[in-house]
Amino acid sequence: MVVPRAILCDLDGVLWRGDRWIQENLRPLRRWEDRGVPLRFLTNNSTLHHLDVEARLKDAGFQKPRVYTSGAVLARFAKKEGRLRLWVMGEEGFLRELQEQGVTPVPPEAAEGVAVGLDRGCTFQKLAEGMRALQRGIPFWATNLDPAYPAVEGWTPGSGALVAALERASGRKVERVFGKPSPEMYLLALDDLGCAPGPDIWMIGDRLDTDLRGARALGLTGILVLTGITEVPPSLEDPGIRVVPNLEALEALDTTG
Ligand SMILES: [Mg+2]
Repeated sequence: MVVPRAILCDLDGVLWRGDRWIQENLRPLRRWEDRGVPLRFLTNNSTLHHLDVEARLKDAGFQKPRVYTSGAVLARFAKKEGRLRLWVMGEEGFLRELQEQGVTPVPPEAAEGVAVGLDRGCTFQKLAEGMRALQRGIPFWATNLDPAYPAVEGWTPGSGALVAALERASGRKVERVFGKPSPEMYLLALDDLGCAPGPDIWMIGDRLDTDLRGARALGLTGILVLTGITEVPPSLEDPGIRVVPNLEALEALDTTG
């Protein structure tokens, strides 16, 4: 039985799809947790607060779930940088993450930086404010650059689409991005675990362009499950990525050799 030193794992498309839990991935993950493999969940979804997701994962049987959202990673960075007055585009989960790190959302004229996450209530007025903040030359940060994501009602613009609108309007380019595939989220989780990046760390995800791309850039082993966005096995040159229908299939492979 192959047991990794630690597991980093995506949420949407791995643990759930829409409002349905993906049991064939959940069961092996809970078994690895029971065996003492450190487990951390990484999501680009900045609309969520990490404690709300952790509560949901406890309901699904995890003992000590730890969740990193792209918004939480940005908020921790803002605190470290001492930029505590930001112009913010985002939803309640992101605003709470910022508030807990001591960051206050302020008007464009008073901001020391711009922080953009997904805002499904974004208006023209809000974009105009963001543009005015950016024209002041202050740092420009984004939770993630996902162009779109599958919502219950169909494909929907992601935070990358809002960042693109602000870039185009202001003539600026985003300077720091915290979600996958940027290294920040993986490194923060590994640092909290006291682990250096390496092939004995697994990153489990359903997206090659975010989950797995970022993992491979750090030399982690990538596990692509076909339970989410990627439904057809891609042809890959990279021996550092394993493609499996789901995690139960991976367990069975590793048991039989
Ligand atoms: Mg996913």
